[in-house]
Amino acid sequence: MCSNRSRTTSAIEYRMRLTVLLFAASLVAAWSLLDYMPQNLLNLDVTSKWDSEPAFSALEDYIVDDKFSLLKLHRGLMEIESISGNEHKVALFLSDYLKKAGLSVELQHVERDRYNVYAYIGNQRNTTTVVSSHIDVVPPYIGYSVDGTKIRGRGACDDKGPLAAQVIAYLDLYYENKIKEGEVSLLFVVGEENTGVGMRTASEKLGVNWEYAIFGEPTENKLGVGHKGIFVFDIEVFGRAAHSGYPHLGVSATEILIPILHKIQNLELPESELLGPSIVNVGKVEAGVAANVIPAYAKATIAIRVSSDLDEVVRLVHSVVDDVEHVAPVTGRTTDPQYLDYKVPGFESIILAYNTDVPNLSLPLKKRFLYGPGTIHVAHSDDEHVENQDLLKSVDGYRRLVEYILSLENATE
Ligand SMILES: [Zn+2]
Repeated sequence: MCSNRSRTTSAIEYRMRLTVLLFAASLVAAWSLLDYMPQNLLNLDVTSKWDSEPAFSALEDYIVDDKFSLLKLHRGLMEIESISGNEHKVALFLSDYLKKAGLSVELQHVERDRYNVYAYIGNQRNTTTVVSSHIDVVPPYIGYSVDGTKIRGRGACDDKGPLAAQVIAYLDLYYENKIKEGEVSLLFVVGEENTGVGMRTASEKLGVNWEYAIFGEPTENKLGVGHKGIFVFDIEVFGRAAHSGYPHLGVSATEILIPILHKIQNLELPESELLGPSIVNVGKVEAGVAANVIPAYAKATIAIRVSSDLDEVVRLVHSVVDDVEHVAPVTGRTTDPQYLDYKVPGFESIILAYNTDVPNLSLPLKKRFLYGPGTIHVAHSDDEHVENQDLLKSVDGYRRLVEYILSLENATE
């Protein structure tokens, strides 16, 4: 009896402790949610503390409907660290922002706690045009700062500058009744900087069929003519270690790898009139253990930026590597060169040598545009920044692009 009662007591105590524990855990979760939201952005009040900061007030802003500030949205996005894989908070922040602006918002589950953000007007989730950027950034995180007319920090131009400008341009058109339900949507994706999983998931599972897409990336406010494709691969050599005084007892992996690298760097690769030459980069080499040991292993990681004829580039690499003894079969990942639409009145064009999410949107689109403020020359670097005026100019650029697409559509109706 006695032992039975103490068992009952301990069961009640256990349940109470569990309840307290769960309550504490939910408090912590709620607190952490509150913690990352720049509150003065969420209440969308233009008279926030940031207005009194001298550096911030020196910049020119673009404000829609007295509430939606380009500079504040840009800063809010940049102040949330969202290195690829860690986009959860910025997705929630953006979703909240777009809902407050009166849009319908869906969080599309990609994997784990990673979500794309999809927003549109009213109930018509399938639209003719999609305007898109990525919410992830490369490491390391660099905080927001203002330096004269430059806005500095991670994502300033890649890709939170384009993203903020797209949102503000969209809201501007929406509040002026220049875009209607079913015409234009906003899509913000995870994982552009590494795997492209966000855009692929949107493309395959969102269940929409857009006809036009505007991609936001730093293009110096010019329309991207296209960008090179890529072939990334490893060359691995498996030799045999021996004392360096007796090389005949071993097989030197470096002696096999170095001539291969030399040949690859001197390949005559296909060129393109539009995208220029294909470019080889032997980005990483690892080999050996010490000066007095014949290296048993060597590996090189190579990226070829392909401007034309991807199949021919892959064939040429195989022709150098395939018959060499001690070398593992070469595999890698490839993306075709991308050709974009760039002939729009009032826009200059630019040739780009970097990869984007464009090929990951596999729907059969009528036209694809790539446009945004800032330059790729500072993206991914410690010097990442965007000029205030470029950011402002891109809002106008996105507006004009959307209006151009709408005029094409109206002409075909
Ligand atoms: Zn980017």
